[in-house]
Amino acid sequence: SRYDIAGLKADLDGIPLIDEPQVVRKRSRDFFWYSPILNTELADKSADIIACPRDEDEVVRVAAACVKRRIPLTVRAAGTGNYGQAVPLEGGVLLDITALSGIAWQKPGVVRVAAGSRLLDIDMATREAGFELRMHPSTKRSATIGGFVAGGSGGVGSVTYGGLREPGNILAARIVTMEEEPRILELRDDAAQKVNRAYGTTGIITALEMPLAPAWPWIDVIVAFDDYMEAFQAGYAVALADGVVKKLVTPISWPIPATFGALKQHCPEGKSILICMIAEASLGPFKAIIGQRGAVTYEAASEEGPGTVPLYEYTWNHTTLQWLKGDRSITYLQCMFPHDRLLESAAEMIARFPDEVLAHHEFIRFGGRMTASALPILRYSTPERLNEIIALHEQAGVMIANPHVVSLEAGSRHKRADADQLGFKGEVDPLGLLNPGKMASYVATGAV
Ligand code: FAD
Repeated sequence: SRYDIAGLKADLDGIPLIDEPQVVRKRSRDFFWYSPILNTELADKSADIIACPRDEDEVVRVAAACVKRRIPLTVRAAGTGNYGQAVPLEGGVLLDITALSGIAWQKPGVVRVAAGSRLLDIDMATREAGFELRMHPSTKRSATIGGFVAGGSGGVGSVTYGGLREPGNILAARIVTMEEEPRILELRDDAAQKVNRAYGTTGIITALEMPLAPAWPWIDVIVAFDDYMEAFQAGYAVALADGVVKKLVTPISWPIPATFGALKQHCPEGKSILICMIAEASLGPFKAIIGQRGAVTYEAASEEGPGTVPLYEYTWNHTTLQWLKGDRSITYLQCMFPHDRLLESAAEMIARFPDEVLAHHEFIRFGGRMTASALPILRYSTPERLNEIIALHEQAGVMIANPHVVSLEAGSRHKRADADQLGFKGEVDPLGLLNPGKMASYVATGAV
């Protein structure tokens, strides 16, 4: 290694460390292999050692030791990110944050948790008081709240509450800075956005305060349609119905449901489907909106215990995973459709790439408006064709967050780093040691 790992080990005496090369290499990976491009680019990246601090004091010790010895530090939680967010491009320390878990306190509508807490565990605890997280990624059963805030964007629940970016969806974040004498900062309200989707480049998050939603009894529903745009329009009508309490509205085009093994009997041959999570009390109004347009093929209370696969694990980026289980030749895109010509734009993209880009959409609120994001399945041929398809979407007004690149900038819809986050990084990680290479436009400001 190009770093003084022996010296670091001495500094971290008493903190659990893992340096078995096989384990370190394995944990240095995430779900970047969904991208054929990242799969090649990141294949041989690995940390030198894993540190597993058990509390915030130990996080501070790891940060201080890394700064002293100029060793990069990359935080890893459950490692379910899709763009190599948790892959240490320049080696060094992988900081496993998962021992920092548990609920600090909760009150009606708010919970404060340690950053390494699993999303499922948080919901199980808050549900006793009648609340749950406003939104979660489809990886809820394994992912952590810190990983979601630092590496994710939105998910199940975003049809009602929008993404993590919306004001009010992250109430506060507590971070440890990457300085010779690390500071502990509490970022509240707007300031909490400085760590949102920054891939852990702007501080090590140790705790989060998250807003909660009422925990309704959710009913999972599948409706089958002859035509995809009928499924889309019915979903749009449900999404727009403010009186219908919902958590998920996902139209999926045939032949994607053909890959949903366990759901086979509810996914008729040749039909596109609509997957929804609807509050039990709203089921009647929901069915009235669907009317004669489609046929309900499945209806049951949502379950997500350890042994049951919840219906949401067929939506968001789990749709890609279901397909990949039987065929590794496909990949995916991340799209955001224009709210003011939603139907036209969705139909236009389907017509433009028949059989090459297979549609499924996620209705979400964005800036107070209903729109749709999408993670379509893409039949992959070459990097050139992939980039051409991305460019054609952008020219047609569909924003793309490119999931085939490692930097925050290239992967954002705006192709640049958030100005607030870039400036903040200079204050909390002046040497650029946190997850180097991810905030590519950051230029280290120097002396500590
Ligand atoms: P990790 O992958 O371990 O880390 C993610 C990023 O956050 C890394 O850059 C890491 O360095 C950083 N990080 C983690 N913890 C901290 C911390 N405490 N302090 C600072 N930085 C930290 N994402 C969505 O947003 N919505 C979805 O619906 C969704 N669906 C998915 C479906 C599949 C099948 C897969 C494989 C991924 C999906 N994702 C989705 C991506 C990912 O699962 C989520 O973003 C998830 O919340 C990441 O959590 P994690 O604990 O696995 O984080």
